[in-house]
Amino acid sequence: MLLRQIPSVDHVLGQESLRSILNHYPRQMVVDAVRKVLDRQRKQVLRGELVTISHQEILSQITAEVKKKGENQLKPVINATGVVVHTNLGRSLLAQKAIEHLVEVAQHYNNLEYDLEQGKRGSRYSHVETLLCELTGAEASMVVNNNAGAVFLTLNTLACGKKVIVSRGELIEIGGSFRIPDVMARSGAILTEVGTTNRTHIYDYEQAIDEQTALIMKVHKSNYKIIGFTKEVGLEELVTLGQKHNLPVIEDLGSGNFVDLTKYGLEKEPLVQKSIAAGVDIVSFSGDKLLGGPQAGIILGKRKFIEPIKKNPLNRALRIDKLTLAGLESTLRLYQDEKQALKEIPTLRLLTFPPAYLRRQAFRLKKLIQNSFDEKILKVGIKRSVSKVGGGALPGQELPTFVVVIKPAHISVLELEQRLRVARPPLVARIEEDLLCLDVRTIQNDELKLIPQIIKQALDKGHDQGN
Ligand SMILES: *Cc1c(COP(=O)(O)O)cnc(C)c1O
Repeated sequence: MLLRQIPSVDHVLGQESLRSILNHYPRQMVVDAVRKVLDRQRKQVLRGELVTISHQEILSQITAEVKKKGENQLKPVINATGVVVHTNLGRSLLAQKAIEHLVEVAQHYNNLEYDLEQGKRGSRYSHVETLLCELTGAEASMVVNNNAGAVFLTLNTLACGKKVIVSRGELIEIGGSFRIPDVMARSGAILTEVGTTNRTHIYDYEQAIDEQTALIMKVHKSNYKIIGFTKEVGLEELVTLGQKHNLPVIEDLGSGNFVDLTKYGLEKEPLVQKSIAAGVDIVSFSGDKLLGGPQAGIILGKRKFIEPIKKNPLNRALRIDKLTLAGLESTLRLYQDEKQALKEIPTLRLLTFPPAYLRRQAFRLKKLIQNSFDEKILKVGIKRSVSKVGGGALPGQELPTFVVVIKPAHISVLELEQRLRVARPPLVARIEEDLLCLDVRTIQNDELKLIPQIIKQALDKGHDQGN
């Protein structure tokens, strides 16, 4: 009986209330949504989950389905996790000037590979090379798609079929399956591990050198720390050893940082300028971690090693695109004035927010939420907590922050957290001590006012399902 009450596809498509959807979305998309919803109803009837067929309900499910299909899958998300460089949420936010630059380059033809003065082919790398060299003291530079690409390209160019010496304590894995030993194997370089997990001495490196050795490599332990009985060899010492044996020394710095963050109360994160000053032959790092630019892999160092890297045919497969290059150039320009960099590059600004500002923002958010909900539905408070840097930088750093805590009366905190993730726009939060925590450090100013409405959606959704 019930199955017979489910309308046909044609009947549904002829409904007046679907007209506006049909006018706004491709017909095939609507037809697919109608089929999907009717099929779902049929299955629910067969499983005994549905006791009445409501045409109203069918139409609203179809509308929801089409709207979901019709919107972009990659979309803005509100980051309330307090993780500043959140790799899963797109790492760094770009500075306004970087955004404007990349939009401008996207809208017009440009001199990506054209030397305007000479009137002939130019190099895409030239646009950032001078800036990078001035900011860091390096002789030459090169940029690629990301730091994984930078490490791969460097190893492939300088050590294919030859040995590369790395300390056992630095054979890192970072998220998304980047592992130094695996990247090295694919590059054609042969890994020579030296030392132990917690201690590596200069003599470990020296004893491993033979006629097949091409490079000495240092990797920054970005996302973990070894504490206790430890020993690691500094870059200067490795450079001296390299010079003695006529071997280049390369460094994978991971995050890449130009500003001494200890001045702003943060822990020490290695500076790119320091590595160059220490005489490293090649150093590489990401554009979108602490640096706060777009995804990119930046390679700096001595010209005699950068030149062959630029000529490697694999470079073409790893090359940086024009939009990224525009975003990168503008971000680097901001570093010409440290004050400006801290003010305008969101990653640096978020990391150095004064506690009083965070406290104020938390009170603002608490008030916004309190004004929208009865205490019987939702309890709101503020507590001290810690934000994280993320992106494999400063792994031990605790950034004191203020979070707005929420406890819903009728659903679990876990349920609320899940529903907020699928709201429009999605809001990603964390849970601490059975409270939903919204860390204001990573919530942007214009996002604050959207939050009550997002919470309402999440709470109402349960109400709908209950019916
Ligand atoms: C993050 C990181 C990488 C990879 O950089 P991507 O830009 O994500 O490709 C490589 N090495 C270290 C040490 C890192 O921290």
